Amino acid sequence: MAKKQFKAESKRLLEMMINSIYTQKEIFLRELISNASDAIDKIYYKALSDDSLTFNQEDYYIKITPDKDNRTLTISDTGIGMTKEDLENNLGVIAKSGSLAFKQENELKDGHNIIGQFGVGFYSAFMVADEVTVTSRALGSDEAYVWNSKGADGYTVEPGTKATVGTDIVLKIKPNTEDDNYDEFLETYRLQNIVKKYSDFIRYPIKMDVTRS
Ligand code: ADP
Ligand code: MG
Repeated sequence: MAKKQFKAESKRLLEMMINSIYTQKEIFLRELISNASDAIDKIYYKALSDDSLTFNQEDYYIKITPDKDNRTLTISDTGIGMTKEDLENNLGVIAKSGSLAFKQENELKDGHNIIGQFGVGFYSAFMVADEVTVTSRALGSDEAYVWNSKGADGYTVEPGTKATVGTDIVLKIKPNTEDDNYDEFLETYRLQNIVKKYSDFIRYPIKMDVTRS
């Protein structure tokens, strides 16, 4: 399939770039966990109004899996998932934020600093990854789709397989450079600290397998 070009909302893109200069790279995890949590919220709210759906607390969680050998970090959720169209529309627009208008409105009202409050969103994954693969299966569908991108040059969406509803996001972690360490994002203790620092308030369990050394 031919590569498609991103639709950039350039003002937002610029803001995101400025933000990423001033913010720690580690906030990518906060963004991906918050998206995972939002996706579970969506199933939760659907279940409230749909009798055919039941929300069993223990079925809903976020899982973080570092793999040093393959240099990947996977963030999985059992949330509502994305259709092929969702993948195109939601991940195909750089720096488009569904929550942004809402935040903007509220912050203007409150008179808070706007820039400091913005979430940089899904694309912050590219601060630490040189390739991102999203495999997702939407609620009510038995098809899964795979979104893949190596950054600004575009993305592909292709059919894939996934046994359960939800989303797996696989980050291919960048190699270290003289100035930047990326290995740390494959270390369980470091990931635990980042989760504690930014995602302590998340309402769903955040799991990670930890082996004792
Ligand atoms: P925002 O969260 O502010 O809307 P993001 O860039 O973080 O902006 O995410 C863009 C959109 O992609 C989300 O609004 C959501 O529709 C979709 N999305 C991202 N991650 C997930 C996920 N794990 N499960 C379902 N949808 C997701
Ligand atoms: Mg988000």
